[in-house]
Amino acid sequence: MQLLTVGSVAFDAIETPFGKSDKIVGGAGTYISLAASFFNRNQALVSVVGEDFPTDVLDGMVNRGIDIRGIQIPEGGKTFFWAGKYHNDMNSRDTLVTELNVLGTFDPVVPMEYRNAPFLMLGNLSPDVQRKVVEQMEVRPKLIAMDTMNFWMDIALDELHKTLKLVDLLIVNDEEARQLTGEYALKTAAKRIMDLGPRLVIIKKGEHGALLFSADEVFYAPALPLEEVFDPTGAGDTFAGGLMGYLSIQDDVTFDSLKKAVIAGSALASFCVEKFGTQRLEELTKNELDERIKAFYTLSQFELA
Ligand code: AMP
Repeated sequence: MQLLTVGSVAFDAIETPFGKSDKIVGGAGTYISLAASFFNRNQALVSVVGEDFPTDVLDGMVNRGIDIRGIQIPEGGKTFFWAGKYHNDMNSRDTLVTELNVLGTFDPVVPMEYRNAPFLMLGNLSPDVQRKVVEQMEVRPKLIAMDTMNFWMDIALDELHKTLKLVDLLIVNDEEARQLTGEYALKTAAKRIMDLGPRLVIIKKGEHGALLFSADEVFYAPALPLEEVFDPTGAGDTFAGGLMGYLSIQDDVTFDSLKKAVIAGSALASFCVEKFGTQRLEELTKNELDERIKAFYTLSQFELA
């Protein structure tokens, strides 16, 4: 089953308490499609890069089964650049630089072959760009998932509300859920988000796992306690990519399937943070992933007396 993603493909410069990276390849779309490729090799990425973007990275995407015909390369353009610095707790970070470059004028075009894709992932981008992608779909997807961030709540709240009306699943972190709804209790925040459109909500709590809500069910996925956490960049996107990759291959959007997809996403995100940028995901094997999914199962499984 086809999976279509729209999201940034970027250069990132990252600083954590453990070190600093040079300009490396990042971007929400990059992490999402890379993570999804562990499950689904029938996917496409809609994005934009500059002429300065390395062609071997694009070739690497193609080798992973990612259709890149939807990635525009405007003449003379420069790739989106983002720099961030993590605080000592690794849960919070400051954005040091955002150079939109080609992303500033991005007008997404969904390739004809993907206009009836049943699974659509809207990576963190301006809500009007996200909506333009939804509007190009010729058949309403079975599941539209969306990520967003505080930045869009601050500068484009009305646009964000319009896009929220079109999606099935919103994936945000706890701070973003609270800002969007003004509610502290996450269960109440999830209900308020459902009033805005999505019938499903995932609230991520960083190293404390993620909560999945539907109108009448809740599921909690823990995060695996890790020995090495070097760089949380892209963990949220990797989670979303793993989740959508898994769901699209199951071709099933029941709550039971969503639970498994949340674990698949959590397992992939747990690898993402172990090295800088996409490095750990690039070298990850399917066996390692399967082992870690089992570790998630044993982590919180117990018998009732
Ligand atoms: P995450 O750590 O999951 O929040 O995602 C980090 C990724 O998001 C980085 O690789 C950045 O390139 C990308 N990113 C940061 N800010 C933006 C933005 N305003 N629009 C699109 N992508 C962004």
